Amino acid sequence: INSKLPNIETSIFATMSKMAADHNALNLSQGFPNFPSDSALNALVDQAMSDGFNQYAPMPGDFELRMEISKKIENLHNHFYNPETEITITAGATQAIFTIIAATISKNDEVIIFTPAYDCYAPTVELFGGKVIPIQLKPPFYKVDWQEVADKISSKTKMIIINSPHNPSGMLFSKEDMLLLQDLVEKNDLLVLSDEVYEHIIFDGNVHQSASKFEALAARSFITASFGKTFHNTGWKMGYCAAPERLMKEFQKVHQFVVFCVNHPIQKALATYLKDPDHYLKLSNFYQQKRDFFLNLMEGSNFKIIPSKATYFQMLDFSEISNESDIAFAERLTKEFKIATIPTSVFNEGKKDFRQIRVCFAKTDETLAQAAQILKQF
Ligand code: PMP
Ligand code: GLN
Repeated sequence: INSKLPNIETSIFATMSKMAADHNALNLSQGFPNFPSDSALNALVDQAMSDGFNQYAPMPGDFELRMEISKKIENLHNHFYNPETEITITAGATQAIFTIIAATISKNDEVIIFTPAYDCYAPTVELFGGKVIPIQLKPPFYKVDWQEVADKISSKTKMIIINSPHNPSGMLFSKEDMLLLQDLVEKNDLLVLSDEVYEHIIFDGNVHQSASKFEALAARSFITASFGKTFHNTGWKMGYCAAPERLMKEFQKVHQFVVFCVNHPIQKALATYLKDPDHYLKLSNFYQQKRDFFLNLMEGSNFKIIPSKATYFQMLDFSEISNESDIAFAERLTKEFKIATIPTSVFNEGKKDFRQIRVCFAKTDETLAQAAQILKQF
């Protein structure tokens, strides 16, 4: 057939997790925890099934869960989303992202994406005939040059996609970044897709700057988040989208025909679990300890490392270790040294000058210790 995505290959996450399994390697590639989700939360899912929540949920999602999400956002960011009209529960952030783009992007619309970028944004934009305008974040701290953004906005620009905290760099936007973004989207009448799946994993006293915190930005933004990242159960594929009513209306027109609704008993369980803010507020501390545990063990290694400020990812620069491409290096690490990581050129339009691999430190201390032992041989 005439491919709609002729240049797209299997996602690096599928590729590396399979390579890890095939070669019996430690899997620090695809981002997921190797420890269980809270048994109390699992029990709530069992309870919801026993209570009979085994048929379709309401199309936008269980109302109690939407209310809890609304309360959470209001408490944390001081912005009210009406649970009746402004929140939809999705099959992970991935489905929210797909649905947002499907609902808003038409042929020849331009969408600004910051690279390195998470892998699902660009293909989805292209699927709907949009044109990706990439803008490189500036290492080592992956800062945005907002003047460059202003220069790349044209009469065709429809949307800017942001992702803070940022996968794969582990960096985050400051308040100043958000204010500059707000100014640009207001002036140029743009939409924003704000991917905030790592909202609760922030280190060293940094603060998550949600798009919902900034009034004019919130008025133009679709925000997406992922319960899988927050509650250690990526396999449940649960997330949500929050947006002002005029945008959510368009979102739901598409959502109802993509999935109609998502897993009902898990929504019931999450509604109860979210009532205790401790369940998400303790996450930053938990992962900061993991990051520090891993980085302490990596002390003296030949990888150049700038500690992550957020997310559960750490970039490792191997430019003083090998001249190989990141893909060749990651493949060799998996096959010969039994540790799987993510080569980051895949987030970077295949550019070869970023000699970095990404590791996921959402792992038990035992796995992290084994990983550091292997990596320190280089
Ligand atoms: N956005 C980013 C930046 C991610 O890293 C991920 C991976 N979890 C997603 C979106 C997708 O989230 P989900 O697993 O909830 O679909
Ligand atoms: N978000 C996860 C990562 O960056 C992967 C999710 C997926 O496999 N699509 O590793």
